[in-house]
Amino acid sequence: RAKASGRRTWCLYQPQMECENRERRRLEEDLGCALEKGQFELHYQPIVGAASRAVTGYEALLRWRHPTRGLVPPAEFIPICEETGLIREIGSWVLQRACEDAAGWLPGLRVAVNLSAVQFREKELVAVVERALARSDLPAKLLELEITESVLLRDDLTNLEILKALHRMGVSIIMDDFGTGYSSLNYMRCFPFDKIKIDQTFVRNLSNGSQGVAVMRAAIALGHALGITVLAEGVETVEERDFLVAEGCDELQGYLFGRPERIMDARRRSVDRHPPASFRNRRSA
Ligand code: C2E
Ligand code: MG
Ligand code: MG
Ligand code: MG
Repeated sequence: RAKASGRRTWCLYQPQMECENRERRRLEEDLGCALEKGQFELHYQPIVGAASRAVTGYEALLRWRHPTRGLVPPAEFIPICEETGLIREIGSWVLQRACEDAAGWLPGLRVAVNLSAVQFREKELVAVVERALARSDLPAKLLELEITESVLLRDDLTNLEILKALHRMGVSIIMDDFGTGYSSLNYMRCFPFDKIKIDQTFVRNLSNGSQGVAVMRAAIALGHALGITVLAEGVETVEERDFLVAEGCDELQGYLFGRPERIMDARRRSVDRHPPASFRNRRSA
């Protein structure tokens, strides 16, 4: 319970609050120059075909290598970057960097990049993606953009139009953290997603009895009924994997297959563990 309520529980205490504010300002300051100081890095986590178990691509996950704090996970700094607007610049860097990295991988391997809803507030997003593809020479069909429901929550149609423009360029649009929002079913009608990533909380619930199993089955069936590729995130055990494969999930991602790692590791692993031949018979190349 303490874990779920997180740091917010400290807000009752005035001195702690001041301390938190100071801490927050310090983080903001450091973040302001982190990009030019080259403190951001992308780690890559493999995505595998459920049936073949061959790597089909990698998700880029942002890390901040702070000079004294060490490696800072995104949950601790991305919300701040979103509030300050810094996420636009950082997000552009992530796109550019991920495309360049992926262009050096084995042919056919895809790269998935997470987008913040804030990045949609700039009209530029389409141009930023175009530029990243052009400069890196990465084919558009190898780029996957992961969005969450928050992107579709805005009333006006702007974000939807941006998504459609991106889709027309040939990049894939993926609904991340599927099932955790308020209107999961409703937004499935709004946009032709190429893939849904079923949130890892649903994978965790598989071992908690028949309810969790029923919900997972329904999510997979919904995706397939709409002609969408279904991926399950956060697969940690062989039991989870076997169940998801048996239920017809298309792709899997999780610590069982690999943790997020630096790029050189990603490249070497993809070569060592999965000979090029295994990439040719992927389901959704
Ligand atoms: P996400 O996109 O849903 O990414 C999945 C998160 O689950 C990652 O955490 C990943 O390391 C973690 N994960 C993967 N497999 C497992 C598993 O088997 N078990 C468990 N317990 N966790 C697993 P991470 O890297 O800390 O990223 C957290 C979130 O930060 C991401 O959630 C994404 O929303 C956001 N994020 C990461 N990179 C970026 C970025 O470049 N831009 C934006 N806007 N957001 C990002
Ligand atoms: Mg993601
Ligand atoms: Mg997710
Ligand atoms: Mg998430």
